Amino acid sequence: MIKAAKLVAPVLLLASGSAIAQDALAPHVHGEARLQVVLDEQELVINLNSPAYNLLGFEHAPQSAEEHALVSKLDNRMREPAFWIELPAAARCSLSRVTLGQHVEQWGHGEPHDHQQGLADHDHADAPSAHSEHRDLAYEYRFLCAYPEQFEQARVKLFEHFPALTSLHAEVIGASQSLQELNAGNPMLRMP
Ligand SMILES: [Zn+2]
Repeated sequence: MIKAAKLVAPVLLLASGSAIAQDALAPHVHGEARLQVVLDEQELVINLNSPAYNLLGFEHAPQSAEEHALVSKLDNRMREPAFWIELPAAARCSLSRVTLGQHVEQWGHGEPHDHQQGLADHDHADAPSAHSEHRDLAYEYRFLCAYPEQFEQARVKLFEHFPALTSLHAEVIGASQSLQELNAGNPMLRMP
């Protein structure tokens, strides 16, 4: 997407930059995250998308040893879905696959930078207002559930682990579908 934009005249790059970012990231609001839970027969697919800010406290590529350690720790914890979501034991859901991904957008005051330039540029880490990088982290989990009819609700524990996350927009699809707003005071996801 960014490569294609580079073919356009520079004046258009600035105009289209925010539109591209909005499309790719919508919505990327610090403090909020998106969850999609789909239960289809015995197959359960859970997708979690969050600004890295909520989970790490920063969105630039890790640079210091401490930041690298934080990223590794987060990866390890998130690979195990029980860390952040408590599925109903009676449904007997067993994890079959985990996929971790991320998406980076950079919004500067000059021409948009591509990812490679951003990684090589160590100056902006201390000046996020002058050169803003946004990173989304994505997690997909696939399960097979022996007793999907037992899946009535699940408890989301993200708010306990990540205080910067205040609101989770959840789309839950089972026999029917519903949109649910979860937060620290309302962490229960209900299968419609
Ligand atoms: Zn951001």
